[in-house]
Amino acid sequence: NGSTKPPPTPSPLRTAKFFQANMRILVTGGAGFIGSHLVDRLMQNEKNEVIVVDNYFTGSKDNLRQWIGHPRFELIRHDVTETLLVEVDQIYHLACPASPIFYKYNPVKTIKTNVIGTLNMLGLAKRVGARILLTSTSEVYGDPLVHPQDESYWGNVNPIGVRSCYDEGKRVAETLMFDYHRQHGIEIRIARIFNTYGPRMNIDDGRVVSNFIAQAIRNEPLTVQLPGTQTRSFCYVSDMVDGLIKLMEGNNTGPINIGNPGEFTMMELAENVKELINPEVQIITVENTPDDPRQRKPDITKAKEVLGWEPKVKLRDGLPLMESDFRERLGIQRKV
Ligand code: NAD
Ligand code: UDP
Ligand code: UDP
Repeated sequence: NGSTKPPPTPSPLRTAKFFQANMRILVTGGAGFIGSHLVDRLMQNEKNEVIVVDNYFTGSKDNLRQWIGHPRFELIRHDVTETLLVEVDQIYHLACPASPIFYKYNPVKTIKTNVIGTLNMLGLAKRVGARILLTSTSEVYGDPLVHPQDESYWGNVNPIGVRSCYDEGKRVAETLMFDYHRQHGIEIRIARIFNTYGPRMNIDDGRVVSNFIAQAIRNEPLTVQLPGTQTRSFCYVSDMVDGLIKLMEGNNTGPINIGNPGEFTMMELAENVKELINPEVQIITVENTPDDPRQRKPDITKAKEVLGWEPKVKLRDGLPLMESDFRERLGIQRKV
């Protein structure tokens, strides 16, 4: 009829929808070391909206500073041992301190995080129909009597030791995952992560790679805990993140080992750090802590077959990548 109507103003709901991505993903523990690298990768996909919940026990907002304020990103201070109400399609459940000095600091809290925290995330997954991935650990194999460890090995774990809050906690978390899967049909994924290293590890968290690199940079002796012949296999964090995403997107529940099978004694690791970072530094031996596993190396046959995944970054290439991040945070430049 010729009347000129003003163009419709988009409703607030419509505007909100404009930013709505195809996939809304919750990352618990997303302010931590592995979690923040995972968030970086997920945020690179414009179809993803990412919600991080973290209580900042060992993580920090600083690890996520590049995303704070981004329209597809949300950061919530929350403890997973409390009920959480959000609507999401996928849950990467990482929340749990990973370094022995932090998980032993308040062992009752650690086991609550593993058990009640995982139960809550499963309750959430059930309510909203989300797929959930748990980051379990090679520690479920305990001090292994089988070498290398494949996923069918049931482990050799001390149920009453100082590490039990962590390793038995993760074992219960795995049990809960499978019980929710069998009883309620929840889509689950379980990754058994082996030692991972890279930028953003806590400088003073006591883990061996971060200790040796910080010591080498500060020109303090590298402390090899006795006997020094114990072995570990170290996976660079970008490889870990690839593996976790492949597992989440694939069809296999797991558990699947994700780690780098390159095996080193702690003395060899110290020698590598010395050679690459500070040839002048001393290497000394010190007392060990109880229940330290003597050897650990993942059998990653299943990850290769099921996920088409294997690590790409060698230890000697990963260590220098971590060095620059540590130097920046410690404020100590390399002598030329
Ligand atoms: P991290 O300590 O850097 O990260 C853990 C994050 O969880 C932190 O940001 C912390 O603040 C948060 N958190 C802890 N308790 C919480 C709670 N109750 N509620 C909410 N947030 C909480 O450790 P990481 O190395 O990034 O490890 C991430 C996950 O991977 C953990 O589940 C860990 O068990 C597993 N994992 C790591 C390794 C490794 O070598 N880094 C090896 C095996 C398994
Ligand atoms: N839960 C949660 N968010 C949800 C749904 C459940 O945190 O959106 C928690 C809830 O507090 C409960 C746990 O998950 O303690 C397990 O939930 P479930 O529904 O499986 O068990 P129930 O509530 O029947 O004990
Ligand atoms: N370790 C070491 N020096 C250190 C810290 C650790 O020799 O300064 C050894 C420790 O005894 C263990 C290995 O390094 O055998 C890995 O320890 P970490 O705490 O990093 O990880 P996890 O025991 O959980 O594999």
